[in-house]
Amino acid sequence: MKRVVVVTGIPGSGKTTVCNLAKEIAEREKGKKLTVINFGTVMVELLEKKGESIHRDFLRKSDLGFQKKLQREAAETISERISRSEDVVIVDTHMSVKTTWGFLPGLPQHVLEALTPSLLVLVEAPAKQILSRRVKDTSRLRDKVLEEEIAEELLFSRLMACACTVLTGAPVKIVINEHGKQKEAALKLLEAMEL
Ligand code: AMP
Ligand code: MG
Repeated sequence: MKRVVVVTGIPGSGKTTVCNLAKEIAEREKGKKLTVINFGTVMVELLEKKGESIHRDFLRKSDLGFQKKLQREAAETISERISRSEDVVIVDTHMSVKTTWGFLPGLPQHVLEALTPSLLVLVEAPAKQILSRRVKDTSRLRDKVLEEEIAEELLFSRLMACACTVLTGAPVKIVINEHGKQKEAALKLLEAMEL
């Protein structure tokens, strides 16, 4: 059984849906506790504690130094939560974050060291489907991009995953989340986690 699993996916890949469904299935059907920690939520909460507020989709458009500082603080907070928890923990995050200044690694070495993952997961879907999810999702401030740009984000995430697997020794599992098949994707994730 894997203790800490880092689940990543580009915006619109459906990673949060897959993570939450995996938790539900693990607890309801397998009687296993599973904690899901969303990295972006921790970043937003840390800011709120300081009396500031920001929409989660504006984080990646904010000052780079600010993002990196918050990233470090979030990794430390999550690391503490992992060490206090006896459950299997999923960290819902990104291999890379498309900032105004270029792709920022979601998992630079110090973040990987804080999280200690034993499995890295990429949740992917066909670029066309990701595009249509971004267009339809009115709850999020998604950028309008072309299918080619989504293909580039998918590729870049895989490249980042290569670096992370070399640094950690943790394997990379790709879970495809096809439209309407989120349950299958969640089951694949649980299988990869040996849960
Ligand atoms: P999400 O809801 O997973 O799309 O995350 C919302 C935002 O949180 C992302 O667009 C990033 O700005 C930020 N974020 C999430 N994970 C990381 C990370 N590992 N490093 C830096 N920023 C992150
Ligand atoms: Mg999400």
